[in-house]
Amino acid sequence: MAAPTDPAEVARAIRAGDRRAMARAITKLESTRDADYAEGQAILEEMIEDAGDAIRVGVTGPPGVGKSTFIEALGLHLVEQGKRVAVLAVDPSSPVTGGSILGDKTRMERLTVKPEAFIRPSPSSGSLGGVAHRTREAMLLCEAAGYDVILIETVGIGQSEVAVSSMVDFFLVLLLPSGGDELQGIKKGVIELADALVVNKADGAMADAAARTRVDYASALDLIRAANDEWKPRALAASAIEEEGIEPVWKTVVEHHELMRASGQFETRRRDQARDWMWKLVEEGIQRAFRGRAGMAEAIAREEAAVQAQKTTPAAAARALLARFEGRGPQDS
Ligand code: GDP
Repeated sequence: MAAPTDPAEVARAIRAGDRRAMARAITKLESTRDADYAEGQAILEEMIEDAGDAIRVGVTGPPGVGKSTFIEALGLHLVEQGKRVAVLAVDPSSPVTGGSILGDKTRMERLTVKPEAFIRPSPSSGSLGGVAHRTREAMLLCEAAGYDVILIETVGIGQSEVAVSSMVDFFLVLLLPSGGDELQGIKKGVIELADALVVNKADGAMADAAARTRVDYASALDLIRAANDEWKPRALAASAIEEEGIEPVWKTVVEHHELMRASGQFETRRRDQARDWMWKLVEEGIQRAFRGRAGMAEAIAREEAAVQAQKTTPAAAARALLARFEGRGPQDS
């Protein structure tokens, strides 16, 4: 039987727990074909009012730190508690290289088989903005489908963690048991985005180093002025592979969630995120319309060359391009 295409019908199937229907809807939202994307949007619009109840957690860290292992351990812990968990990934490497840091491994086999879990690899095309954008829509869909926790994984070496931290409630940074953030290949700003740092691989021969690293980061966090008066970021240690220290991490997330809800900051942040998101889409739309206007590509090339050769000022060039966009034509500007 062919899969239903009526958005209301698809939405019903997704609400009823049909993971394949959900995967297909996400594929539509990820599609670069306008018609498919519009179908995905129609499904999301059917469901959007049901979104908003999940806890959204971003997980980042350098390659090899144990993100998949950690997310699987955390996911299994949550499933044991009766929660439904969706795992999404934003992989900044895929648009650039065509390959993927996150996607090429066999991942989370134990979690994948749980009916309460939904695991989605990163969309593999489009700009970084585009990939994060699609993940955001997939997140809303999972949430509307009734998933209690959404875990969004990304590699902490590019810009994707900024995009991810702006769509989640709690941002977790995983670290290795030695070396400063620069040595670990983590960008400095990433630590400042964290609501909690977790030193992973705190087991066996690395247990002592992990304990020391945790203390180092705890003191480093003391020096960073917290972005939020109500929450001081914490440093924890865990062993994803031995499933040790996972519960304290989750308790920290829940504690943060309850504090933010009680203070009203949770609502404010969600509202701000949704509004910022709208403006991001408007800006992207304007950019597309601007560049897509007839004759614009040539005009842009001309003005860029003139600015680079110092034949005109950037302001005059921008004025000429905007005048053309507004339909006043370059002669009127
Ligand atoms: P990712 O690249 O950050 O997703 O890292 P993976 O989850 O793929 O893990 C990278 C490697 O580290 C794998 O060989 C894991 O088995 C190992 N690993 C992950 N977590 C732990 C841990 O808690 N302790 C130890 N000793 N090894 C771990």
